[in-house]
Amino acid sequence: MHNIGMSSKLNNVCYDIRGPVLKHAKRMEEEGHKILKLNIGNPAPFGFDAPDEILVDVIRNLPTSQGYCDSKGIYPARKAIVQHYQKRGLLDIDVEDVYIGNGVSELIVMTMQALLDNNDEILIPSPDYPLWTAAVSLSGGNAVHYICDESSDWYPDLDDIKKKITPNTRGIVLINPNNPTGAVYSRDFLLEVVEIARKHNLIIFADEIYDKILYEGAQHTSIAPLAEDVFCVTFNGLSKSYRVCGFRAGWMVLSGPKHLAKDYIDGLDMLASMRLCANVPMQHAIQTALGGYQSINELILPGGRLLEQRNKAYEMITQIPGVSCVKPKGALYLFPKLDSKKFNIVNDERMALDFLQQEKVLIVHGTGFNWKKPDHFRIVTLPRVDDLEIAIGRLERFLHSYRQ
Ligand code: PLP
Repeated sequence: MHNIGMSSKLNNVCYDIRGPVLKHAKRMEEEGHKILKLNIGNPAPFGFDAPDEILVDVIRNLPTSQGYCDSKGIYPARKAIVQHYQKRGLLDIDVEDVYIGNGVSELIVMTMQALLDNNDEILIPSPDYPLWTAAVSLSGGNAVHYICDESSDWYPDLDDIKKKITPNTRGIVLINPNNPTGAVYSRDFLLEVVEIARKHNLIIFADEIYDKILYEGAQHTSIAPLAEDVFCVTFNGLSKSYRVCGFRAGWMVLSGPKHLAKDYIDGLDMLASMRLCANVPMQHAIQTALGGYQSINELILPGGRLLEQRNKAYEMITQIPGVSCVKPKGALYLFPKLDSKKFNIVNDERMALDFLQQEKVLIVHGTGFNWKKPDHFRIVTLPRVDDLEIAIGRLERFLHSYRQ
């Protein structure tokens, strides 16, 4: 047999959150090392259980979930999603505008594949959740990164966005609350983005998967209800707010002038049909999750585990000499900065690997989030306070003498 190569379609595709450093960590685990994992926003392994009601409903519906369903998803779940957004002011939508996927991830890839021709451009934040950039590249498009400004609470730089729009720009991605920075955008800011999208005929792709994970009174505003005359695709799912990443249950909602997007919608329908449907049993969790008691509030309000851990991690990280961090207002991460005068880091992936090898803690390097300079990294705030203390203590020890 000849060598079996990778498709050239993957040449520019990169997804470092699950990249080489993670592979190395797995090898270390196989050798018997215990690794503290601060790398992935997956609540369940840290002892965050899903609400019982959700588990019970999935189990109850299991016997009747053996067949394929409609490729867009089961009706009660899509109806519950419609009602959820109608309550938030998105009135002109119905069940046909809702697609359920095996997680938001599948739908992100689907929306890019259905849209992009070679060299079409999508505006994506830097830093980003890197699946967005990977999905654009996989679909033959160019990810054009707009800068989020650390000195302005990581808000996107509107001038930079405007500067980067070309005749090839098809859409803009907004991640709010943001992974990795934890920024939560104000209504006024969102209105400015809507104005830009309106003026330049851009689709808004609104990734709002952390919309319920908010700290100290931060309010989340969904952008689609502010943009009735702009075509929007809003993404959300059960992975984070309901702690069931493994269920792979996510959705997207199309809104705005759908009559102008008929061909695109045909493309989305085709791709949804080609994968037949999302896994059916987990879709039964959606109606229950959206309609019922929102137990996430117990975790983010004073005394709640997520809030306490975010506070602890922030406090410890910012006490390390040469490390600074914007306090996250939402989501599950810190994205700290390493002072380049103190640390001469040329390759931050190398730094993450060295940290892993020396201290057995797994983090993700900042360039993995399409942040250009090797001066940031991301940690999750999911581990218990004791583990955060150990992990961040080791980080301080590591950085104290780290030279590349
Ligand atoms: N969007 C963002 C911003 C995320 O952080 C994640 C997961 O970490 C996803 C989408 C993917 O979520 P899902 O589990 O629904 O595929």
